[in-house]
Amino acid sequence: MSETVNTFEAQQQGRPTGPLVRGYEVIIGFETHAQLSTASKIFSRASTAFGAEPNTQACAVDLALPGTLPVMNKGAVERAIKLGLALGSHIAPRSVFARKNYFYPDLPKGYQISQFEIPVVQGGAVSFFVGEEQKTVRLVRAHLEEDAGKSLHEDFVGQSGIDLNRAGTPLLEIVTEPDMRSTAEAVAYAKELHKIVTWISICDGNMQEGSFRCDANVSVRRPGEKLGTRREIKNLNSFKHMQQAIDYEIRWQIDEIEDGRKIEQATVLFNEGTGETRAMRAKEDSADYRYFPDPDLPPLVIASDWIERVKAAMPELPRAMAERYVRDHGLSEYDAAQLTQSAALAGYFDEAVNAGATPKLASNWITGEMARRLNAAEIGIEAAPVKAQQLAQLVKRIVDGTLPNNAARQVFEALWTGEGSDVDAIIEAKDLKPMNDTGALDKILDEVIAKNAKNVEEYRGGKEKALNALVGQVMKASGGKANPAQVTELLKAKLA
Ligand code: ADP
Ligand code: MG
Repeated sequence: MSETVNTFEAQQQGRPTGPLVRGYEVIIGFETHAQLSTASKIFSRASTAFGAEPNTQACAVDLALPGTLPVMNKGAVERAIKLGLALGSHIAPRSVFARKNYFYPDLPKGYQISQFEIPVVQGGAVSFFVGEEQKTVRLVRAHLEEDAGKSLHEDFVGQSGIDLNRAGTPLLEIVTEPDMRSTAEAVAYAKELHKIVTWISICDGNMQEGSFRCDANVSVRRPGEKLGTRREIKNLNSFKHMQQAIDYEIRWQIDEIEDGRKIEQATVLFNEGTGETRAMRAKEDSADYRYFPDPDLPPLVIASDWIERVKAAMPELPRAMAERYVRDHGLSEYDAAQLTQSAALAGYFDEAVNAGATPKLASNWITGEMARRLNAAEIGIEAAPVKAQQLAQLVKRIVDGTLPNNAARQVFEALWTGEGSDVDAIIEAKDLKPMNDTGALDKILDEVIAKNAKNVEEYRGGKEKALNALVGQVMKASGGKANPAQVTELLKAKLA
């Protein structure tokens, strides 16, 4: 974990160089705090629910009253194991809690319980696409720790309030190697990690409420130089701010160096109003925290059969699922990636296929018409008015020839607006059935042939394309209800 190792690996293991910015290579490493979705705190029984009245969810342990002792929350450990399994990490059979000592009003014990030398999750990697390119970011570690409370500045004049509801909330801090080489790659990493922690249900992923907070360590160097000095942008709470903050930081660092100044290691904050980053404090080194093993907590021992039980209960992960869609359903990699954007979307697709929808068609509808409407309505698939069963029924009616394309869109529209709920009933009510009555079709054919003598002549003269125009005319005259394949055959027969 030391910087020498990072420098060595980053330079010697042939990590690809990213796009240069004004001749500089950008280096980014992430520290992410994922709040674990346990009902109670990491070392006490107080609730972790968000939004309660200040200090109503802080018990004696969270308040650090004398004589209280922390007790490990098994659910928090289980969630750490899940992350380790999802990212191919080593899960330490024995890890150690340590006290990280610092003074701050929202930290009543005067130290934070964290893990230092031996974290519970070690190594592993996150892989994802940036455009067409696959990237892999290596993890250093993920360790369990408790959150601090919060200082309240609004509503107070000349003084601050302290809310300890958040004190003791379980966090998993996920630390990467400095493997990222551009803002785009950093944001894509954060999105992928966010997808994974929510997919395996260890974190609710709510960035506004602070359940998923990213710190971005950023440095720049001339290609071939050793790693530059980093500045750490704290608490990025949306992907948009993340992108703005990192872009600004890169520009700022290059400007400083070009102006002949040196970058000082620092912790900086992003100001959403100005779009700038500003140094908050000189960065502490770990030695400043006087870490030592916490005598109140025994080492955390994880038996291998516990890991096996957690593994057996793990959901299928997005990448495995996407590979399965390509292999079993013949979807393109792109479509499979679209469908595995979230567990909910993939679940919807699975449900439609299980209900009998042809996978390729179901995928087209979900990533096409459905995605467009969800975007426009700014809702997720969970809230879609068209349910998976209904989509499956729609797809079946397309496949069995009942619904031509534009009629299918009308049915979808009716399902979406709630005008109808049963596909067959909508087809009946809207009279969308294709024209099976060959007598009626025959009449249309004769009319079209009579009215389009020029096309008929061209076709008979060997111009195959002229037939398309005639088919189009028949389709139009039938109100889209004729079957184009059948029309083509009948026309050919008549004109032969
Ligand atoms: P600390 O112990 O001070 O927190 P670490 O070595 O644990 O420092 O690194 C913290 C984070 O900073 C990691 O995500 C790491 O990848 C990243 N990092 C380290 N060196 C650099 C650098 N020169 N440029 C960008 N990021 C870096
Ligand atoms: Mg660190």
